[in-house]
Amino acid sequence: MEDCVFCKIIDGSIPSNKVYEDDKMVAFHDLNPQAPVHIIMIPKLHVKSADEINETNSEYIAHIFSKVGEIAKSLGLENGYRIVNNCGPDAGQTVFHIHFHLLGGELSGKMG
Ligand code: AMP
Ligand code: ZN
Repeated sequence: MEDCVFCKIIDGSIPSNKVYEDDKMVAFHDLNPQAPVHIIMIPKLHVKSADEINETNSEYIAHIFSKVGEIAKSLGLENGYRIVNNCGPDAGQTVFHIHFHLLGGELSGKMG
């Protein structure tokens, strides 16, 4: 996808501060962190949002969740973390390549 910033991170044409990468996913530091640890996890497949997950592409999504514990541990989040997905404009999605925010550190409040 030519105009997708996260596809450009995958192909290396935009730099990122990666914490994990394999053949199906990349995890990198968010440019504008909302928590002491704020990682973006993306599949190496252009799926626009959670609304477009299907039987064919879901292995890429499952793969991210199979690695999240390992990634969180590597970042020192032994005591817990939050995973957030914003789906669609009303939820505040701004990059239309599905991604999961991994948030850790001193989170304030249950939903904040
Ligand atoms: P969302 O609002 O759920 O679509 O989240 C998009 C996230 O991507 C925001 O937290 C941005 O700060 C982050 N972001 C956008 N561009 C980049 C980039 N080039 N590198 C790292 N994070 C980015
Ligand atoms: Zn993309």
